[in-house]
Amino acid sequence: MQTFVYNALPSRVIFGQGTLAQLADEVRALGCSRALVLTTEPQKDLGQRLCHLLGDLAVGAFNNATMHTPVDVTEEALQVVVQSSADCLVAIGGGSTIGLSKALALRTDLPQIAIPTTYAGSEATPIIGQTEDGLKTTQRTLKVLPEVIIYDVDLTLSLPADMTVTSGLNAIAHAVEALYSKDANPLISMLAQEGIAAISRALPAIHRDPNDIDARADALFGAWTCGTCLGAVGMSIHHKLCHTLGGSFNLPHAPTHAVILPHAVAYNRAAAPEAMALIARALGTQDAARGLFDLAKQSGAPMTLAELGMTAADIDRATELACASPYWSPRPIEPEGIQELLTNALVGNRP
Ligand code: NAD
Repeated sequence: MQTFVYNALPSRVIFGQGTLAQLADEVRALGCSRALVLTTEPQKDLGQRLCHLLGDLAVGAFNNATMHTPVDVTEEALQVVVQSSADCLVAIGGGSTIGLSKALALRTDLPQIAIPTTYAGSEATPIIGQTEDGLKTTQRTLKVLPEVIIYDVDLTLSLPADMTVTSGLNAIAHAVEALYSKDANPLISMLAQEGIAAISRALPAIHRDPNDIDARADALFGAWTCGTCLGAVGMSIHHKLCHTLGGSFNLPHAPTHAVILPHAVAYNRAAAPEAMALIARALGTQDAARGLFDLAKQSGAPMTLAELGMTAADIDRATELACASPYWSPRPIEPEGIQELLTNALVGNRP
């Protein structure tokens, strides 16, 4: 018998192709009439498209969402919220834009509609990370969980091939760690397996043809299931390593996930055999860690920390930081093992 505690998260999810057309109705259904659109500079045309779509329901757009949710950018956006008397937030983009929306919701309690265009999964979590004075801190609160998610497969067709692969592997990492989480529960484990299977099916197909709409739909569905896993249960060594490498060595978020994942799974291989079997089955392979390594390689992902800017001289400090206040892990965190893991990831050894 598996004993468990499961907390369901309240959120309305609309999934399909062309679903962006439902945005105005969703704003009205929230009882709102003054939406502020949030996005990044590179996606500002998309933000303008949303303003046109919303017509009188839009009060404007803020186009300066920034990776890792810097507090100074949030404060700048907060002024726009106040000046425009916005009564809801519409975030279109990846984890950075959705992070800004969450930071604003934390401060204002405004309802949010998230429209994800990557596979990072932030839209499905009550987690917010914010950066101030070079330090990123994370908290969990229902205040930041978007009320509505609109998944529109059409919006993901423009995601460049390299980002598609790393973002997809970033999503798979949430599901993988959910399967060996100390909070694992049957519902989330089912979603995790569905997510791994959907994204691992999609990535090689999108690598061959970025406009393959069925593969794009698989990947976006997987992003939702994997994001739901991240929002529901605690993560482990893989996420700890990625936060350390991103925060202290400035390595890019999704590519770092892509490189570390097979090695983090190999680290826990002997300590979590049931989870390993479920991951391998979802991937359609014999061994979870090797299956993830081969999937990354086949899909054109970066395979070494060296190509992301890390050097052998960084390994000792990264090991020390990763072992300080460690997350729970099926295999306890041992410096020698972490050093070996990072060394393998540095050069891209097949686990
Ligand atoms: P991102 O949001 O930084 O996007 C990267 C770039 O790609 C941006 O310039 C963006 O505008 C552009 N882009 C996004 N979608 C596009 C598309 N379809 N076509 C063309 N360009 C597109 O990247 P990300 O990996 O989605 O998010 C990373 C951030 O999200 C990190 O700060 C990470 O910590 C955070 N995150 C938070 C959670 C959470 O639960 N709080 C979960 C996952 C990620």
